[in-house]
Amino acid sequence: MKTFYVNGVNGNNIELVGDEHNHLKNVIRLNCGDQVKVVCGDDFNYFCTIMQINKNSTILKVDSKELNKANPKVNLTCYMALIKNDNLSLVVQKLTELGCSTFVPFESRYTVNKDKGTKIEKLNLITQQSLKQCGRSKPMVIKPTKKLTDLVNDLKQHDLIIFANETEKSENLNDVLMQNMNAKNIAIIVGCEGGFEQTEIDLLINNNAKSVTLGSRILRAETASIMLTAIILNFFKEYC
Ligand code: SAM
Repeated sequence: MKTFYVNGVNGNNIELVGDEHNHLKNVIRLNCGDQVKVVCGDDFNYFCTIMQINKNSTILKVDSKELNKANPKVNLTCYMALIKNDNLSLVVQKLTELGCSTFVPFESRYTVNKDKGTKIEKLNLITQQSLKQCGRSKPMVIKPTKKLTDLVNDLKQHDLIIFANETEKSENLNDVLMQNMNAKNIAIIVGCEGGFEQTEIDLLINNNAKSVTLGSRILRAETASIMLTAIILNFFKEYC
């Protein structure tokens, strides 16, 4: 059954407009009477019948709703330095599929690809598209871009902060996870193509981030964030 995303469900009728309406009408060409699934960012899947297909909107009737079972159970936030647009899009898509709850882009000393204001909208669209494919009803929340120096306050809300530090020689991810098995609100921090400046590394470590190595090979930033997300969510039993 095809899934559509709307910004909220209020009552028994849903109106699809814009891209979602266009997709239903002109791309997959559904008809009145067909069944579709709607998600809107809350905890439910809404099962609907198509009642009317108009020029600019489609009217659906909600037949039933059920609790969505694909939303993340583990609370993971990824703080990721801005990287090239296509790679950032890839990260947002894959982290949505893997079950990351929140994504916070940040600018650091070596960020080349600064945020000129359009990125968040684009990233929100990507997580919405990805959620329809993977079955979540809640998109990954994309927060506005911050400066690394302003992240420090946000970090206080987490009881485990794992910082992928390419200069780290000894601390490894497994040991840090084993020492923090009861963490509930977890964060990861991954740098951009150019990595971190030493003062940034010091700032993060002084604010409780656990610096870890991801091994002897330097990974691309997108590989590091996807790998860390999958390992951590698996450790905290998201995939059971
Ligand atoms: N320019 C840096 C260098 O040459 O050392 C590499 C930066 S790397 C491409 C981008 C980010 O991925 C890093 O800032 C770090 O967060 C993460 N990363 C990549 N490989 C890593 C590793 N082996 N251990 C820890 N973090 C790693």
